[in-house]
Amino acid sequence: MNCPRLEIDLEKIKQNASLIKRKCEKHGIEVVGVTKGFCAYFPIAKAYYEGGIRKFGDSRLVNIKRLVESGIRGDKYLIRIPMMSEVDEVVRWTDVSLNSELKVIKALGEEAVLQNRVHGVILMVDVGDLREGVMPEDVVDTVKEISDMKGIKFLGLGSNVGCFGGVLPSRENTRLLVDLAEELHRKLGISFSILSGGNTVSLGLLEKGELAEGINQFRIGEAILLGTDSTGNRIIKGAHQDTMRLVAEVVEVKEKPSVPVGQIGKDAFGDIPEFEDKGIRKRAILALGRQDVPVEKLIPEDEKIQILGGSSDHLILDVTDSGEDYYPGKKVGFKINYSTMLALMTSEYVKKVYV
Ligand SMILES: *Cc1c(COP(=O)(O)O)cnc(C)c1O
Repeated sequence: MNCPRLEIDLEKIKQNASLIKRKCEKHGIEVVGVTKGFCAYFPIAKAYYEGGIRKFGDSRLVNIKRLVESGIRGDKYLIRIPMMSEVDEVVRWTDVSLNSELKVIKALGEEAVLQNRVHGVILMVDVGDLREGVMPEDVVDTVKEISDMKGIKFLGLGSNVGCFGGVLPSRENTRLLVDLAEELHRKLGISFSILSGGNTVSLGLLEKGELAEGINQFRIGEAILLGTDSTGNRIIKGAHQDTMRLVAEVVEVKEKPSVPVGQIGKDAFGDIPEFEDKGIRKRAILALGRQDVPVEKLIPEDEKIQILGGSSDHLILDVTDSGEDYYPGKKVGFKINYSTMLALMTSEYVKKVYV
């Protein structure tokens, strides 16, 4: 079979989706299944659907278009604040988008009127992670303007943490969203339905009972796909972590010195490599490289293997300490985490195999 390949267990992903959905529903929270981690490929989106997911979120329009065209039913959310230059397509392909700029929301409204549609808007609030969102003190004025716009249905507020600033979710920063909702109701008489207050890392708050009452939507990718919460540095209890594995093929095995011979310049990526002299070692080269995956993030299933590094198309392993026999043609397996998944899914050189 083709190598390198990413083997994807659809049944396990479906079970994870169903587990996360039930966990959230118990606390009155609906799940938007985030599909960007797998480019919204149909078989995995279908596993989400079969696990009970009925709302789908992606950061890229090409992926959302793929979902719509492959017939996955349910609301489509654009979860990256839209580019001005994609406003017409946002209205065409999605039902809802997360937003933070009045100018863009206005353009979405005008476009929605042209297309004879109504576009749903969730206003993102920056609760401290310093990625997207209006500052809390600007929320009331912003919502006032949005609620008068034609073509726009204001659906609620959203927040995101753990992505740029590394800020962890807390009772306080989720409470902020709920307080703002109350303020909007009081000052503007506006009521709305969605408080989209988190992603995978927010599941920890649910389990500890520390999520502010009133939050009613999470946008979840990683917990469903990998059963992990890498920001919170933990696994999701009851979920499968072995939903995917990478298989790559050995193309060379030789005993070589552990320090290069000759004058050392910069490598192909502008770094000066450093080597520890361990004498002669047995090295295996795999046909897989930085064009496919950040090689230093790979985790071999054979724990006795050491990753020495990689270039664009080659991965170099030290297999001296392994009890396994390595030879050209041998397949080597790797565990998958969030950063390797993102890259492997995106690389067209990596075959996706559904098992
Ligand atoms: C990627 C993303 C998510 C999903 O995050 P996970 O950690 O994979 O659950 C949610 N919301 C936004 C805005 C995102 O960009």
